[in-house]
Amino acid sequence: MLTVINPASGEAIAELSADTSDGIARAYQRARGAQPAWAATELSHRLACLQRFRDGIVRDTERLAAILTSEVGKPIRQSRNELTGLLGRLDFFLGAAESTLAARTVFDEGGMRERITHVPLGVIANISAWNYPYFVGANVFVPALLAGNAVLYKPSEYATLTGIEIGNLLHGAGVPQDVFQVIVGGGEAGAALLAQPIDGVFFTGSYATGSRIAQAAGPKMIRVQLELGGKDPAYICDDVDVAAAAASLADGAMYNTGQSCCSVERIYVHRRVHDAFVDAFVREVQGFRIGDPTDEQSYIGPLTRVAQLDILEAQVADARAKGARLLAGGRRIDPPGHWFEPTVFSHVDHRMALMREESFGPIIGIQQVADDDEAVRLMNDTEYGLTAGVYTNDAARAERLLAQVNAGSVYWNCCDRVSPRLPWSGVKHSGIGLTLSTYGIETFTRPKAWHLRTP
Ligand code: NAD
Repeated sequence: MLTVINPASGEAIAELSADTSDGIARAYQRARGAQPAWAATELSHRLACLQRFRDGIVRDTERLAAILTSEVGKPIRQSRNELTGLLGRLDFFLGAAESTLAARTVFDEGGMRERITHVPLGVIANISAWNYPYFVGANVFVPALLAGNAVLYKPSEYATLTGIEIGNLLHGAGVPQDVFQVIVGGGEAGAALLAQPIDGVFFTGSYATGSRIAQAAGPKMIRVQLELGGKDPAYICDDVDVAAAAASLADGAMYNTGQSCCSVERIYVHRRVHDAFVDAFVREVQGFRIGDPTDEQSYIGPLTRVAQLDILEAQVADARAKGARLLAGGRRIDPPGHWFEPTVFSHVDHRMALMREESFGPIIGIQQVADDDEAVRLMNDTEYGLTAGVYTNDAARAERLLAQVNAGSVYWNCCDRVSPRLPWSGVKHSGIGLTLSTYGIETFTRPKAWHLRTP
């Protein structure tokens, strides 16, 4: 059984029966049987199904947002934002699929023609995270289905009610039951899914689990895509509007209660504006309303996973012991539920876990730097490389700095942003492969090369 807990209250809200290994093997067999017919449908049919899925999201936004808030604790306005933000991603995929998946003739001379077609991978596993289940799920299953794959979708055990809703919506929209199947369960269910002879695994989650997935998938010689964690930095140059940068970065650090893969987790500030920035940042954070995630005014909710409270407490203790200054928060809030105060430290450095390990909560360290070179060195001093941002009024300075930063996405005067038109990827422990953009459609296919000589 899988017990679903409301993180705001700590109460159990549902009991679900988890899939067994045998059940997962049968689901795989059904998917394998159904995939060729799905791939053989016209793309226009698959597009129409996903368009109806979009209609279902629009129709049911309020109900789906309430379910998401009840199981992950996301403040209700942010749950609604996730659903409305999903529409833009769907529109991108629906608009770009046809041209991206079209066969291409790349050479045609003297009776010799060369063509590329896009063949679906087959049956893929989509093992997902809980923090943005609509975003990170749809980044995979939408283009995968459009390209003609069958998808075995295992939502996180912390977002299973949402995963089941996604399945119901897709089936209601015309995607056959066997072509998209929801696998219910935790890590064991994910491992059992990997044990099947799947054609690809598309994973979103932590580095620790991602490296286990890579090891299990290695001998299979299948497509492996891992979207993992981050320790994303931002640097504030000495020429900025400090108040505007502080407002942008406080939101980037604390939105979704700091539980975004691209949350800002480290801030470096040029010494000339350090004190002014810190004051403005703390004021912003103290203005955030913590409370019942079903309340329209709440901005900070509970942490989805209770275990994260221990990690945050340990980072606070470590930072304090090594000389950091606590400027706001710093403690868990008494139960019921899994709550932590929004927390800000200054005078931090890279000996501290707070500046090295993914926090995945409402906590941030701000470090003063002497100049741009020191900022770049510290931004790159990490195991991760998902995103990085620079705040400056000088476009050339931003360009120069961002070119030196080793990250999948870089931002000028913005942060915590994902675009369906751009590839989403990480370097180092932030993962391999990518989603989104036209590359994120192609990745669910293998290019087949045709050498055609006319007799
Ligand atoms: P997690 O690694 O704990 O779990 C992710 C998924 O893996 C879950 O579905 C889980 O049940 C499954 N799993 C666990 N053990 C497994 C095993 N042995 N075999 C197969 N599957 C297994 O991560 P999480 O707590 O769900 O998500 C948080 C992490 O995800 C953070 O590190 C965050 O940065 C990252 N994340 C990254 C992105 C991105 O786009 N790069 C997006 C969202 C979240």
